[in-house]
Amino acid sequence: MNYIVLDLEWNQPLDVSQRVSNLPVEIIEIGAVKLDSDKNRIDEFSRLIKPIVYKELNPNIRQVTHFCEEDLERGDDFETVIADFIVWCGDDFTIGTWGTSDLIELHRNLEYHKNKYLGPGNYKYYDIQKLFSLDTEGKKNPRTLEMAVDYYKIEKKDDFHRALYDARYTAEVFKRLRPEIVETYYSLDLFYNPQKRSDEIFIDYKTYTKFVSKEYRTKKEIFRRKKIREVRCPECEKRTTKIFGWFGTGNGKNYTAVFQCSKHGKIKSKIRINKTYHNENVYATKIVKFIDEEEALHIKEKYLKIKERTEKKKES
Ligand SMILES: [Zn+2]
Repeated sequence: MNYIVLDLEWNQPLDVSQRVSNLPVEIIEIGAVKLDSDKNRIDEFSRLIKPIVYKELNPNIRQVTHFCEEDLERGDDFETVIADFIVWCGDDFTIGTWGTSDLIELHRNLEYHKNKYLGPGNYKYYDIQKLFSLDTEGKKNPRTLEMAVDYYKIEKKDDFHRALYDARYTAEVFKRLRPEIVETYYSLDLFYNPQKRSDEIFIDYKTYTKFVSKEYRTKKEIFRRKKIREVRCPECEKRTTKIFGWFGTGNGKNYTAVFQCSKHGKIKSKIRINKTYHNENVYATKIVKFIDEEEALHIKEKYLKIKERTEKKKES
């Protein structure tokens, strides 16, 4: 299997009034580096795309990328570049990008052009920005690509914010990450979230499990489903007892509960309610993890505080 480390540059409207709702940004450059299974660089891809929607460069984009309209005039149309890119990728690869937005915008641009490359079922990818901070700091901290390049003392031969150069830098960072981190904390591309129960995703990450549900019309419907509301012990798969929860953290998206397996101890579960990209529906991602008594206590304090606050609100 190869790795395709991808970076995109895009243009955006000059102001919100010109924004096309299903195309917030238009891709103007694709850069990618192909690595073999040992992460040796074996090929590169670099192409400019001539925009058809936002033809005038947004000043911020102009400043960051140093592009001018004449550069983009020399680009090929999106369909041609994507067709070449698909052939170049081959058929056995996993994508890696810096952050989460490149893949989302690639999907949006593909949808705009009615192209289904990267359609449903391609879930696994590497968010190298997330993996970098997990590997070096032990937690998710959104760092810039240049910070990561500096961290590893990678030689800065080229400017940042050109697609191929950023793809090269990203690939260099990716090579230096510990493989066990990369393979434990890979990401899921959920632009095409599961539609049917048979498409639902379950992953055992060893230290925790993740479940992605199909979509529902409302949050209420999500919580009505037993499989989501209840938690089985990740160790013995037996039913657990809920100690407290599900309580929301206030933004209407995140919910936490603590459970107990009589044999294996306390378990924390978090549900996140996500909006789909295609309609007004919602789907859930649920994480299940063993915790120690101290963490259980800490969550309980949080829960009691929130409960107190909502009760006070009700009174007043
Ligand atoms: Zn158990």
